[in-house]
Amino acid sequence: MSAAIRTVNPATGQPLASYDTWDTARIEAAVERAHAASRAWALVPVAERAARVAHLARTLREHKDRLAHLAVTEMGKPVGEAEAEVEKSALTAEYYAERGPGILADEHVAIDGAEAWVAYEPAGLVLAVMPWNFPVWQVMRFAIPSLLAGNGVLLKHASNVTGGALALQDLIVEAGFPEHLVTTLVIADADVPDTTSRLIEDDRIAAVTLTGSNRAGAAVGSAAGRAAKKSVLELGGSDAFVVLDDADVGAAAAAAVRARFANSGQSCVCAKRFIVAEAVMDAFTTAFVAGVERLRIGDPHDRSTQVGPLARGDLREAIARQVEESVAAGARLLTGGKPLPGEGCFFQPTVLTDTGPGMAAFDEETFGPLAALAVARDDDDAARLADATSFGLGLSVWTADTGRGIALARRITSGAAFVNAVVASDPRLPFGGTKRSGYGRELAGAGIREFTNTRAYWVA
Ligand code: NDP
Repeated sequence: MSAAIRTVNPATGQPLASYDTWDTARIEAAVERAHAASRAWALVPVAERAARVAHLARTLREHKDRLAHLAVTEMGKPVGEAEAEVEKSALTAEYYAERGPGILADEHVAIDGAEAWVAYEPAGLVLAVMPWNFPVWQVMRFAIPSLLAGNGVLLKHASNVTGGALALQDLIVEAGFPEHLVTTLVIADADVPDTTSRLIEDDRIAAVTLTGSNRAGAAVGSAAGRAAKKSVLELGGSDAFVVLDDADVGAAAAAAVRARFANSGQSCVCAKRFIVAEAVMDAFTTAFVAGVERLRIGDPHDRSTQVGPLARGDLREAIARQVEESVAAGARLLTGGKPLPGEGCFFQPTVLTDTGPGMAAFDEETFGPLAALAVARDDDDAARLADATSFGLGLSVWTADTGRGIALARRITSGAAFVNAVVASDPRLPFGGTKRSGYGRELAGAGIREFTNTRAYWVA
């Protein structure tokens, strides 16, 4: 038996629970059962799979309070946001229950002398390595379309949200899916790299998806490459929020606060770098800093709280280092900048200005309540700065002229571009990254087809 996983409430530093981790024999038995369940599930007609997915939407809503409570206590998310991610998961289940069968329907191809079509058949059992920042949504965003496509799921969730991961497994059975079709593996931290590599090599596992850091993504992606298996990687982001000189500065600043500090700043698609035209820099900075200073930080169970703790102590240390290094490199601190005293992992909502390439807050993913402001001389300079990153997930452009905003967006590489709106995932649109933000897509038609066998039929 390996070491136990011990979860901790990041708002208080108090221990929550301890979970025995699984040895090799227990993992092997789980893989065997999951593989058998996924083979049987692949033969279930898509209409029946869709009916279970519709039931899952109802089950998620029935358990909303419990799932939200687990997220709040295990990773410190403000309770309203925790409820919202359960609701978004339910909406996604409804979307796929209704639209998924059509997306997966055979496509007939006109060929003389033959009946030909393209079928989207189940890929098999998929390993899903998931992060803690949206403990329900990250899992459901992948699992819902994958189950509808006829696949099984082996879930390796982040260890700090093990309670939530086990609750999700139970909930999926309660929604009417077969036992073992979705299996949560409980793996000790030290065993994670070796165990996931071994699972990826296993013939019973068809493919792997990971949402998380570049470090974990590189490990999983290279294991998938060695095994010649399909992989989807949804990694970090350092999204630019570009404010052009004709933008409604008040609206942009209010949106910027939401875009940066949602989920206490711990989202891959949080806006992280605010690139602002010189003409409106002062007005934007004043409104933005005022908005940041009004944010209520505190107990995530309190409904008035807008910013909770960071999910772990090491994540808070990473933000503190990024602030310190950026200031040493010439950035100016406008507000915040310090951890809050006490046992919780709180960090003051922080704004740095005069940032740019070469500074940690600009070059690295900042996964917490830290905003980096940079001034742009004109649209060319804004495009250059927005693109001066190794990441490429989302982009938000603010302007009175939407044509100008779209033209600017075309010059910047990212998986999504929003004009006069905050970047967010939506089940109706594909979601994923470019550059070091990863590859492959989740959600919409593209997401469900990632883990299907696009099969050609030719019947003479
Ligand atoms: P990780 O990438 O380490 O964790 C995400 C998942 O990957 C967890 O389930 C983790 O397991 C697992 N994992 C970690 N290392 C490996 C490995 N070598 N092989 C296979 N699986 C692995 O993220 P952290 O929690 O450490 O966060 C660090 C940073 O990552 C953040 O500050 C942020 O920049 C980025 N991040 C980005 C996310 C996004 O949405 N794009 C989400 C989370 C983090 P375990 O928990 O057991 O270590």
